[in-house]
Amino acid sequence: MESVTKSNFRIAVLPGDGIGKEVVAASLHLLEALRSKVPGIRLALVPLEAGAALYRRTGTALSEETLATIDGCDAILLGAMGLPDVRLPDGRELVPQIDLRFHFELYAGIRPIRAIPGAPTPLADPRAKEIDFVIIRESTEGLFADLDGGKVTDDKQAQDTLIITREVSTKLFKTSFDLTAQRKLRGLPGRLVCIDKANVLTSMAFFRRIFDECARDYPDIDAGHEYVDAAALNFVRRPWEYDVVVTENMYGDILSDLAAGLIGGMGMAPSADLGDRMAVFQPCHGSAPDITGQGKANPVATFLSMAMMLDWLGQRDGMPAYADGAMAIQDAIDDAFRNGALRPVEMGGSDGTRAITDAVIRALRERHGATTKV
Ligand code: ATP
Repeated sequence: MESVTKSNFRIAVLPGDGIGKEVVAASLHLLEALRSKVPGIRLALVPLEAGAALYRRTGTALSEETLATIDGCDAILLGAMGLPDVRLPDGRELVPQIDLRFHFELYAGIRPIRAIPGAPTPLADPRAKEIDFVIIRESTEGLFADLDGGKVTDDKQAQDTLIITREVSTKLFKTSFDLTAQRKLRGLPGRLVCIDKANVLTSMAFFRRIFDECARDYPDIDAGHEYVDAAALNFVRRPWEYDVVVTENMYGDILSDLAAGLIGGMGMAPSADLGDRMAVFQPCHGSAPDITGQGKANPVATFLSMAMMLDWLGQRDGMPAYADGAMAIQDAIDDAFRNGALRPVEMGGSDGTRAITDAVIRALRERHGATTKV
């Protein structure tokens, strides 16, 4: 690992469990190639251990010491955490990635759903190639707000609590409107849909009311609503019509897996969990124990999450090289998939982690040539 200089960003790297380790290793290979082609990207990587396997060994999934080290970093690159056979006494899986969201108050989960031209999608309609929308999932409240407060009474009744606060919802909606406005500047529709269940749940009616209040500050954005059940239907019937959607934590959890399926699978869907001062970048998928150690994991979601990290760091500190790096990753992925050249295992093909990583690095080198200054 390189030493930290003043202009370096410190990145906490948490590969975690299962295929998390495999896709993060692949991403660090890509990062090395990127740094030799796009000048001005200076990252100090801080490797850290956390996750279910660590819990099995030590009794702690995410130590105080690790949290303190992360506190001194600028961002977190995470693989995946959790293993089905490592559970708490009440049967729940360990979820240190959710603990990180609470600890750093990472309320806005940004999940871009963009069809990569050249990659297969399960939808027959040719418009599926145009899918390009973003799900913004609230990530600290909703039904996940009180994970340790759920209870079973006398083995007769179980209860979890759904919490929506004005403070977090307002920040979430502001982030959502700002992101929609940024996309509109890039020629995208500038349409934001709040997905809820305001017709049934008091908490969701409150969520929608705050959304409508925020919308008044953004008259140029086309703001609308949809119930979550209708959204699930429309995601499959006409996903190409969405631009940005914002939703509660649990609905976002479910809808983002559905949306990942539309663009080929979990290995294609990146994410960023943003707070006011820290952010976690990780693929939407979990540790996938069914394919761990077989070289089948698709690393594209992690590549794209890393690109989102570069973009976020660059925007935060006004450093254009980082946006260039992010774009170079996306372009290299598009090039590598062009004309059906790659078919990942999760899409029924035979290209695994190694083949996809090699193809993306090759595409990056081809596009940026040998002459780019370092
Ligand atoms: P979590 O609840 O932690 O998000 P999960 O139980 O929803 O995880 P995943 O680990 O995301 O499940 O796996 C769901 C399915 O998708 C599995 O069949 C897995 O093999 C597949 N999958 C997930 N990620 C990838 C990937 N990067 N490449 C290929 N297949 C993947």
